[in-house]
Amino acid sequence: MGMDKVSQEYGSLLFTDADMQERLPKPTYKKLRQTIDEGKSLDIDIANEVAHAMKDWALEKGATHFTHWFQPLTGITSEKHDSFINPKSDGTVLMAFSGKELVQGEPDASSFPSGGLRATFEARGYTVWDPMSPVFIKDEVLCIPTAFISYTGEALDKKTPLLRSEVALEEQAKRVLALFGSKPRRVFTTVGPEQEYFLIKEEDYAARPDLILTGRTLFGCEPAKGQELEEHYFGAIRPTVNEFMKELDDELWKLGIPAKTKHNEVAPCQHELAPIFEQGSVAIDDNLLTMEKMRLLASHHGLVCLQHEKPFDYVNGSGKHNNWSICADDKNLLEPGDKPEDNLQFLVFLACLVAAVDTHADLLRLSVASAGNDHRLGANEAPPAIISIFLGDALTPVVDALVKKEHADSKDAELMDLGVPALPDARRDNTDRNRTSPFAFTGNKFEFRMCGSQQNLSDPNVVLNTAVAEQCDRFVKYMDGVAPEDFTAVAMRFVRHTFRDHKRVLFDGNGYSKEWEEEAEKRGLLNLKTTPDALPYLVKPENIEFFAKYGVLSESETRARYVAAAEQYAKLINIEANTMAYMTRHMYLPALFEYSGDIATTVATKAELGIAATAEKALVTTLTEGINKISAAVDDLEAKNKKAHQIEDCTEQDNAYRDDVLPAMATLRTAVDEMEKVCGKDYWPVPSYNKMLFYV
Ligand code: ADP
Ligand code: MG
Repeated sequence: MGMDKVSQEYGSLLFTDADMQERLPKPTYKKLRQTIDEGKSLDIDIANEVAHAMKDWALEKGATHFTHWFQPLTGITSEKHDSFINPKSDGTVLMAFSGKELVQGEPDASSFPSGGLRATFEARGYTVWDPMSPVFIKDEVLCIPTAFISYTGEALDKKTPLLRSEVALEEQAKRVLALFGSKPRRVFTTVGPEQEYFLIKEEDYAARPDLILTGRTLFGCEPAKGQELEEHYFGAIRPTVNEFMKELDDELWKLGIPAKTKHNEVAPCQHELAPIFEQGSVAIDDNLLTMEKMRLLASHHGLVCLQHEKPFDYVNGSGKHNNWSICADDKNLLEPGDKPEDNLQFLVFLACLVAAVDTHADLLRLSVASAGNDHRLGANEAPPAIISIFLGDALTPVVDALVKKEHADSKDAELMDLGVPALPDARRDNTDRNRTSPFAFTGNKFEFRMCGSQQNLSDPNVVLNTAVAEQCDRFVKYMDGVAPEDFTAVAMRFVRHTFRDHKRVLFDGNGYSKEWEEEAEKRGLLNLKTTPDALPYLVKPENIEFFAKYGVLSESETRARYVAAAEQYAKLINIEANTMAYMTRHMYLPALFEYSGDIATTVATKAELGIAATAEKALVTTLTEGINKISAAVDDLEAKNKKAHQIEDCTEQDNAYRDDVLPAMATLRTAVDEMEKVCGKDYWPVPSYNKMLFYV
């Protein structure tokens, strides 16, 4: 698209504010705006008018169906399509869409994971329109972003708690801002997700059951080269990939998704897309939509988009950086100000954030825990599994000085200035490139870098929002009854105390190093290496209490989420183990039988001719030993997988998958990969790493 066309088509598949204004009677538009801006409920007459206008707009754009688009507990998004058609008695049809159909839907969702929240006799849940997130058209379907809840009002999706956490944060942050004398209309988070992914050839993908069934390669020996030359990162974008990216941009722009930068990533075939940040829940909707479009559009170019966290061993995996800040109307609260009073407010929010991350490091860690992400975190390519914060060279000295003052004895303290320090321009501080830090201040926002590429960012944002809300609440209580003339001194004391109490979470060294792991342990920081280590923290009494207190998740909702996540882990590894067994028995072993058989025949033929066949003989021996090893390993994997699969308690089951099944998978993989190195290329039943990653 040329630039003119881009500006014309930008948001053309999104029912934007301008569309609403144009198509709705003024009073209706005003009421709808109120609903959106102030979270007011929408009455049915208004909903009917809005639905009518939306339907006309959608029909003009060629849509025939509508769907309530929602985010289930596992997987990415779900939808069920209904057509606008309403047959009339005279045999004609009317295209209709009512307010009720807009506002509430009933997906046939009895088989979505609920973590046990819905008994089968009450399997139904319903979806409710989230008017904060605009409706859009995708593949001739009008998509209505919704929350999914049970008939008893419990959240069955990822979006409901996200919206609740945004409400909690807004409420508490407004109380803080009121103390500073400001009364913004809205306080909201901003999120900018940087999405990494791989693109490989469709023909390679189609030949690999592991990629098809699990999203990652479960076998494959080390390629002749990896990412050591860094040629991919700096290289030009391949022409087919460029075509794909262009089409992707066009499609995203039509949906009003502000895709901004695209480039190659470190690993061969790896790329990244970053949009301009948006309001939190909208940014997350848009990220999910972006991921879906990536998968779909890749097929137009003979490519497959892999969004798994670790599609290939030996090269980097894919993450998703969650850039996050809080905004009051149009002011970024994490932007250090020029005036001392702005600085104080900035420091209060910064202190709240540091305390939030330290206090709920367990929840933040588990919010990014998954079987896929376990292959990245702590593996020297992604942040470690230990949560820490990097403040950068501009802010670290300020915070260090504040902490020092807090530790000085009172006599020294009297001599020191305990007021608001001047802040350096953190925005211009380009030393934020500590890529090893899981949680980095990057000038005017925080970047949470532990998220997995295929995850829904709702989870980490729910934790962040709620944890910061709690700290804002603590600040307001701390300031209770403080006389105006003491405000600055007491607020500064809060800031100093908070940094002092949570200093252990601040770290600006190399997060990949062994020393940091030891140091972190001394500091009492958690190091939850795997998903089964992390998940059980969700149901600790204080965490259940924490979510309940801010109205984000009730006890039963939290417990259900634990069960759903724990089951998901076991299910994924079970599928991987099954896939490995399938590929071994049906592909690798037959290939090795054939190859070793052919070589053995050569040995016999040569012997008849009286020719020594030393190399061939040695190879047959190697292949036979390899076959025996593989055969034993696959038997062992199947036995262990069967045993783990039968365990009823989900916590115990996850531990068995991690401790018994994963090692058995590793043993089998090594045995097969060893044989890939010696087996004839034309005999090997799947494309190699060399081919998939470099013959592009
Ligand atoms: P980098 O230098 O890492 O490329 P950028 O400033 O370009 O960082 O931003 C990376 C991502 O962070 C983008 O998606 C961007 O929109 C987002 N971002 C920038 N400012 C904010 C903010 N205030 N809140 C949330 N995300 C932001
Ligand atoms: Mg980044």
